[in-house]
Amino acid sequence: MYKYLKDESYYHELYDRLTIKECEEWVNSVNHISSRDKYKKAGSITGAFTEIGLYFKKGERYRNKSETIHKWMERDQDKDDRINNAIEPKGIRCLSCSHLMQVESKDLHTDINDKNDRVLFFFDCSNCNSRRAYWENGQEWEYKNPCPKCHANRTSVHNRKGNIITTAYNCPGCGQKETDTWDLDKREEVDPNFEANRRKYCISDKEGTDYISWTANLKEIAEWMKDHEENKEIYDAVAKIKKLTIVELQNHLNPAIKKAGYSKLDFDKPEAGRDLTVGFSLQDNKPGRQDRSSVYDLRRLLKKTLADTNWRLIADDINYKLGFLAGRLRGVEGEEALKALAEKMLKK
Ligand SMILES: [Zn+2]
Ligand SMILES: [Zn+2]
Repeated sequence: MYKYLKDESYYHELYDRLTIKECEEWVNSVNHISSRDKYKKAGSITGAFTEIGLYFKKGERYRNKSETIHKWMERDQDKDDRINNAIEPKGIRCLSCSHLMQVESKDLHTDINDKNDRVLFFFDCSNCNSRRAYWENGQEWEYKNPCPKCHANRTSVHNRKGNIITTAYNCPGCGQKETDTWDLDKREEVDPNFEANRRKYCISDKEGTDYISWTANLKEIAEWMKDHEENKEIYDAVAKIKKLTIVELQNHLNPAIKKAGYSKLDFDKPEAGRDLTVGFSLQDNKPGRQDRSSVYDLRRLLKKTLADTNWRLIADDINYKLGFLAGRLRGVEGEEALKALAEKMLKK
C-alpha cells in the first residue's frame, strides 16, 4: 500500500531543493540585470548586491524550514490516516464469475488543489483475476478519459515491450490519437550538483540561529531608532534631566536651602518601590517667618531647584511644626519612568 508519510530526510531534501532553486533564480536575475550595458560599470556593486540578497534569502529559508517541514509531514500523515480510516465497501462481486472480491489496494484521490479527497478501493477476484474499483461511498469507479479537443470519452490500449509500456488513446468523437510511454526502468534523475549547491545555499543550524538573532537585533535597533526619531523632543528632554543619586540630591539642594534660610537637610531611610521615595526634614533658620510662609517658600524652592532633575516633591505636602519642616520626595530612574517625567515636563 502506498504510504504518503515519508522519512523526515525526504522533506529536508525537498525543502533544500526549493531553497537552491530560489537562490539560483536570484543570482540569475541579478546577473541578467547587471549584464545590461548601463550596469556593467557597477560590476562590483552588483556582486555585493547578489551576496546581500542571498544572505537574506538563505536566512529566511532557514527561518521557515522546520515549520514548513512539520506542516508537510502533518499533511502526509493526515492523508495516510484518511486512507487507513476509510470504510471499505462490502459485498463486491466479480462481474465475470460472481465470486466475492477482496480489496487489493486503496488510494487517495484529490482534485488539483489537493482538496475534495476521496478514497478509491481496488478489488481483485481470486478466482479469475478480474478487477473492479469502488469509491468509499460505494459508487463504482468509471473509466473516464475525456478527449482534450471534444471531451468525448477516449478508448485506450496498453502495450508492453520489455519494461516500456505504451498507451494509445483514440477518440471516437473527433478521431484524435495520442500515445503515452512509460519506462519502468527510468530512474529519478540525480542532479550531480545537488550536494554542492546544498552546501552553498542551505545554511547550517549554527548559521541559521545566528541569522535569526541577528535580524531580531536589527529589528530592535530599527524600532529603537524609529521611536527615538518620532519622540525626539521627549528623548532630548530625558537627556537633559539631571539624574541625581541621593547624595547628589543632597549636594544639589544644600546651597539653595542655605540661601533661602533653611538648614540641616536630612533624609529618612528611602523606600524602594517602582520609584524611590524618601522622607526629608529640615529647619527654618529665618527669624520671624510664620508657618504658612515657611511652607510656601520651601515648596517654591523645591519645585524650582528640582525642576530639571529626576526628583519631585510628593503631593506638595509639607508639614510644619515649630520651625521643623518635613515632607517626601520621589526619585525616578529607568528609561520608561524618565520618559513619563519628560512628557509631563513638556506638557507644562
Ligand atoms: Zn471472477
Ligand atoms: Zn475528440
